[in-house]
Amino acid sequence: MSETTLQTNFLNLKNNLPQQVELVAVSKTHPVTAIQEVYDCGQRKFGENRVQELTEKQPELPNDIQWHLIGHLQTNKVKYIAPFISLIESVDSEKLLREIDRQAEKYNRQIDVLLQIKIADEDAKTGMETEDALEILKHYDTGEFPHVKIKGFMGMATFTENQEQLRKEFLFLNDFYNSLKEKYHFEILSMGMSSDYELAVECGSTSVRVGSAIFGHRN
Ligand SMILES: *Cc1c(COP(=O)(O)O)cnc(C)c1O
Repeated sequence: MSETTLQTNFLNLKNNLPQQVELVAVSKTHPVTAIQEVYDCGQRKFGENRVQELTEKQPELPNDIQWHLIGHLQTNKVKYIAPFISLIESVDSEKLLREIDRQAEKYNRQIDVLLQIKIADEDAKTGMETEDALEILKHYDTGEFPHVKIKGFMGMATFTENQEQLRKEFLFLNDFYNSLKEKYHFEILSMGMSSDYELAVECGSTSVRVGSAIFGHRN
């Protein structure tokens, strides 16, 4: 069978990434048929930013997909994804972490998460300050959240083409990550999207979240 355009896009991108860098295919707004095409090329990690969209798609697709939640998560919606989510990348408050811990216990599992750190200039790109993350890690140290595992950090850079600014933001988060990596056995630094993933990888990203460069533009 010949490759579809989508599959060609995906394979080109995949070949362009260093092997040790994880790729999360961001499938938000795209139909399950498109996700299946990329799945058929071997991709297993997919990212969605809305709970409702994710819970609609998840049952229609293969069970071995590792779903990442990458958008702002409301506390009252954690319960809908707790049974199956592979990684919640967008933890932006201790209150949310507490609810994830509570729901994970209910489902008798541990849920992997990233703390989302604000690195952009813009207010719209949410996330916590590094001080907030340190405070959460202090409580995590005391065993307060036994049903979550903090695997590292996620960051979204400013929407700009200014490479120096992007580099500064990525390196800032990379430094913060490295300062805590050994103590917490961190494994994931999630930085970089379609427009900036190459620079993010140069700056230490271990996991990129790429949507439009694979699936095409969103409406
Ligand atoms: C949509 C989204 C992406 C992917 O963006 P593209 O520019 O389409 O690659 C990555 N991360 C987050 C948090 C997103 O919401």
